[in-house]
Amino acid sequence: MFDVAKNLHEVLDNLPNNVQLVAISKFHPKEYIEAAYAEGQRVFGESREQELQQKVAVLPDDIEWHFIGHLQTNKVKYIAPYISMIEACDSMKLMREIEKQAAKCDRVIKVLLELHIAAEVTKYGLSLDDCRQLLASGEWRELKHVQICGIMMMASNTDDTARIESDFETAACFFDEIKHDYFADDDHFSVRSYGMSHDYQLAVKHRSTMVRVGTTIFGPRVY
Ligand SMILES: *Cc1c(COP(=O)(O)O)cnc(C)c1O
Repeated sequence: MFDVAKNLHEVLDNLPNNVQLVAISKFHPKEYIEAAYAEGQRVFGESREQELQQKVAVLPDDIEWHFIGHLQTNKVKYIAPYISMIEACDSMKLMREIEKQAAKCDRVIKVLLELHIAAEVTKYGLSLDDCRQLLASGEWRELKHVQICGIMMMASNTDDTARIESDFETAACFFDEIKHDYFADDDHFSVRSYGMSHDYQLAVKHRSTMVRVGTTIFGPRVY
């Protein structure tokens, strides 16, 4: 096993107190999660529903699970009973399904709006304009079991730190815009989730409040 405890503490030592660490444990066995848990880490992120389900069944109840991958609407029902936050919410359709399943469980599920800012082409994530439109529609205001807590994004996959920093800055400014326009009175809307193993320090420099770090803590993933 990678020295999970040592790596975890190194990452935590690099983070200001107001930045939350989501330890990304996807593709790693439960023993790795237990090693981080023993050091006090409680927030973990997974990207596949079945893998998450298997881990939830055998790991401590006080873990806060974040779903960080693309979530198909037909999978929401499986995670709704326990998921703490769904980070990659990128459509009204998905938000409606989260509302429906969360209501059945009598829970409120926290979500982040996933933005597509990076250079790479992907079908996931909202463009800034699509996100503006989604919020302008106002339908989200009626969803009583969904709490929109902020934004999440990934920077461009490049060695060009200027581009990475500019992606993070775009995200931070967009957060300010929608906070001002829609969530000024909502203290829950406070999360800027960006920064991964290779760029979390740049992310913190650009006002990230939540970093999602996997490889640096747990080592390379075995697919
Ligand atoms: C896998 C993943 C991470 C963690 O990536 P590392 O480079 O291993 O730190 C963060 N965010 C998302 C959305 C991911 O899928």
